[in-house]
Amino acid sequence: MTNKTEKKGFSRRQFLKASGAASAVAGGAGLGLFGYEAGKDPRTYRGWENWEGVNQVFNRKKYAVDQPTCQKVGPTRRVDARTEVIFYRRGSFMRQWREETGLEGMEPHIQEYYRKNPEDLELDIYSQEVIFPKLMEDRKKYQDQFRLSDAWSNAMGAVSPPRITEPPEVSDFPRRSRRGGSTEPVKFKDPKKTSKLIKKIAHELGSTLVGIAKLNPDWVYKYTSIGRGFQSDEPIEVPKHWQNAIVVGTPMSWDPMYANPNYGTSNDAYSRSRIIAFRVASFIKQLGYAARPHTPGTDYDLMVPPILVDAGIGEQSRPSIVVTPELGLNFRPAIITTNLPLHPDKPISFGVQDFCDHCKICAENCPSDAISYGDRVEVRGYLRWQVNTAKCLNFWNSTLGSMGCRLCVAVCPYTRKSNWIHKAALKVTADDPTGISEKALTMMQKRFYPGPEPQKYYIPSLGGENASYREPPWWLRTEDFIE
Ligand code: SF4
Ligand code: SF4
Repeated sequence: MTNKTEKKGFSRRQFLKASGAASAVAGGAGLGLFGYEAGKDPRTYRGWENWEGVNQVFNRKKYAVDQPTCQKVGPTRRVDARTEVIFYRRGSFMRQWREETGLEGMEPHIQEYYRKNPEDLELDIYSQEVIFPKLMEDRKKYQDQFRLSDAWSNAMGAVSPPRITEPPEVSDFPRRSRRGGSTEPVKFKDPKKTSKLIKKIAHELGSTLVGIAKLNPDWVYKYTSIGRGFQSDEPIEVPKHWQNAIVVGTPMSWDPMYANPNYGTSNDAYSRSRIIAFRVASFIKQLGYAARPHTPGTDYDLMVPPILVDAGIGEQSRPSIVVTPELGLNFRPAIITTNLPLHPDKPISFGVQDFCDHCKICAENCPSDAISYGDRVEVRGYLRWQVNTAKCLNFWNSTLGSMGCRLCVAVCPYTRKSNWIHKAALKVTADDPTGISEKALTMMQKRFYPGPEPQKYYIPSLGGENASYREPPWWLRTEDFIE
């Protein structure tokens, strides 16, 4: 096992002898200044401008480890998406909660969840009774400021393939060939070659990053509340044909992303990833194999971040999102489950979890205090940081701009442009066993990229100023175009 954490036993002397990291750290402050200047150049944005994936250049092989970095530390448990996934639970809460009937008026599994998690009930009630009325008031006063980013976000979210309604045994399989040909699976020569082909096709269909994993059934929801051919009151039986998981996805547009929470949108990358996943699934089905897309916003039957980890796309971070070497946290993925025989990628360990141990910039900048400052904890049998999703969603609903927040994505030092300074910084931190460069880069990030006080991001009625992390791009400044 070549996990980076194991290399911590190096003496300083060995390190100075053996690694070039020290010189990079010594020159860090100077590099930082150059990097700050270079970072202003829009030509160094990466991902969206290139549909052929040539930016996936980080040498993952070097950091390949034998075990996924989601460490199994106890008995595992699958997610009950009806209650543990905030969007589905909030939907049920809004439909079922009445003050007069309280918990008694709700479905039994939701009652049970709230009895075990009374703090979530409190946050869900707070959202309904305090945040939403305030939001409605402020919409009337301030919403016009965000007309352009709103329209842009909604337009990006408007193009979507249809929702899946049939069970996997029906919907995932090819039905009949469009030209009257066979639906029998074609015979591929070798799973390695098939993987290479699928990756190329996915890049051609628009995916910036692509990875492949064997599907770990622990990541499949135990219950779901959105259908897709499953009953919400019956546990999901993991379909036998969900053998492999293909990860596709793209970043969000960079300039609006840096102007979160009011001007960015997840919808641009959501729509692209969703369309790519449907196209990849269609490609596989036309070759006679089963394929099901699991796509953003909420059309999933499984948890996405650990599958990205298994597929070597990146490592899970403090805000629970996966950090990729190429795009940092700015990556919106979709998954395709399939029985197409494929050769999986290996997970990678390039120092993210060590970096997150010290950095905490996202936690300091999170307006809702949803990101933990502490250590990783055991969650359903695996070690990871856990985000308070109810606090996070409450903040989403405490802003006026396009739906969501994404500040943790914007402030992370890994979410930086593809210029030489950031490539160098990534290489230094990935290879430095001492943690010195991690500390230097965290300090530089705080120094060069400070944001407003977290409270300022809130709507005025909740004590804020409608602030954004960075100025919006010129094309989203409503005040410059609309009277
Ligand atoms: S999206 Fe915003 S509120 Fe949610 S965890 Fe990230 S920074 Fe915090
Ligand atoms: S901001 Fe820091 S702690 Fe948060 S995800 Fe990025 S590296 Fe990790």
